[in-house]
Amino acid sequence: MSNASSTPKVGFVSLGCPKALVDSEQILTQLRAEGYDTAKSYDGADLVIVNTCGFIDAAVQESLDAIGEALNENGKVIVTGCLGAKKDADGDDIIQKVHPKVLAVTGPHAVGEVMSAVHQHLPKPHDPFTDLVPAQGVKLTPKHYAYLKISEGCNHRCSFCIIPSMRGDLVSRPVADVMLEAENLFKAGVKELLVISQDTSAYGIDVKFRTGFWNGKPIKTHMTQLVTALGELAAQYGAWVRLHYVYPYPHVDEIIPLMAQGHVLPYLDVPLQHAHPDVLKRMKRPASGEKNIERIAAWRKMCPDLTIRSTFIAGFPGETEAEFEYLLDFLKEAKIDRLGCFAYSPVEGATANALANPVPEEVREERRARVMLLQEEISKKRMEAKVGKTLRVLIDEVEANGNGVGRTTADAPEIDGVVYVKRPFEPHRQLKVGEFVEVDVTAADAHDLWAEA
Ligand code: SF4
Repeated sequence: MSNASSTPKVGFVSLGCPKALVDSEQILTQLRAEGYDTAKSYDGADLVIVNTCGFIDAAVQESLDAIGEALNENGKVIVTGCLGAKKDADGDDIIQKVHPKVLAVTGPHAVGEVMSAVHQHLPKPHDPFTDLVPAQGVKLTPKHYAYLKISEGCNHRCSFCIIPSMRGDLVSRPVADVMLEAENLFKAGVKELLVISQDTSAYGIDVKFRTGFWNGKPIKTHMTQLVTALGELAAQYGAWVRLHYVYPYPHVDEIIPLMAQGHVLPYLDVPLQHAHPDVLKRMKRPASGEKNIERIAAWRKMCPDLTIRSTFIAGFPGETEAEFEYLLDFLKEAKIDRLGCFAYSPVEGATANALANPVPEEVREERRARVMLLQEEISKKRMEAKVGKTLRVLIDEVEANGNGVGRTTADAPEIDGVVYVKRPFEPHRQLKVGEFVEVDVTAADAHDLWAEA
């Protein structure tokens, strides 16, 4: 039965252990944040969510009975929790078999999927004046760009890094949670979404690329499917999606056509760290066997506007002069657009500290300086090639005199260069923060551009 008031009401039945309770709390918080009310009785609700337990037989029975009761009393039921992930002896979904009329079934810790099912069956109200929590949550970056973390931790064990010992192995966020957060950010006015993680290409490996659901559509917990969905969502809001920390696994090739078609920014942040195979082996780098020069050439062929950003380490333990020169040759050929180079510095607890033949500090610094000198030349040429072009810029700041500072598709905030945009000539036109403008590039150095709006 439906209630007559305009605010949609959701009934909630929570069964099971404290972990299930945390899930229930998160779902209830999200419902409140989006402006839904909760109902105390079945017939006062527009829809009922049952959070189930599947631990012992008695709990399974209790959960199935609760679903049956909710179906009889209300009719519109979404099921979540442990029983939702359980199969019977024939491999069939237990809940769907006993109660085929339920609207949607998810496993535990699936706030995004549950919310997506709620949106589908009870469209979401949004009142910015009464909602308790802003729809996009709290974020620390300026309003027009935001970071979207898709996973935590890392399965690799690079010998210079201690992140896995601090944060543990890869844990991918459910795809529906990621999509929900992205949608909330776009709705709140975000114009550029920066996808981050320790290893973006590995997204979903920990959950065997499980299929999640977003707005009733199946999406695998896999980098290419997530990026495709994010690109489609961003297009609806006229926003940008930028990818960071992408290791060059073979499936990264599938992302490049999406960039060429304009669905995600033609920008790849690929931390390569070195080019010589022996150094990469000592570093224990992921995807170290890939033929990166050929890959980069093929990517640029598919997407000529592609900007490649990478970081390198000079003076890694055992690096010989010949190995270092191999790196310089690689850089001359690869012509990376945006490059950071660090002199190796031992991190406490990293296994690389125990490697033979550490490189003396002054040699590490000198090698770093040689990389940066070479890169300055490469960057300058690549930046100068942009003079005379018309480029799209997202304005980050407007100064008191009306001039602006912005970024093109080739510039990630904080780490890359900027575009200094001259105040528009026409008196009625003003630059605005968070706005896209087309600019004509008039000058360049190795890092930044100067342009007119
Ligand atoms: S440097 Fe290596 S181990 Fe550290 S987070 Fe990155 S991929 Fe994982």
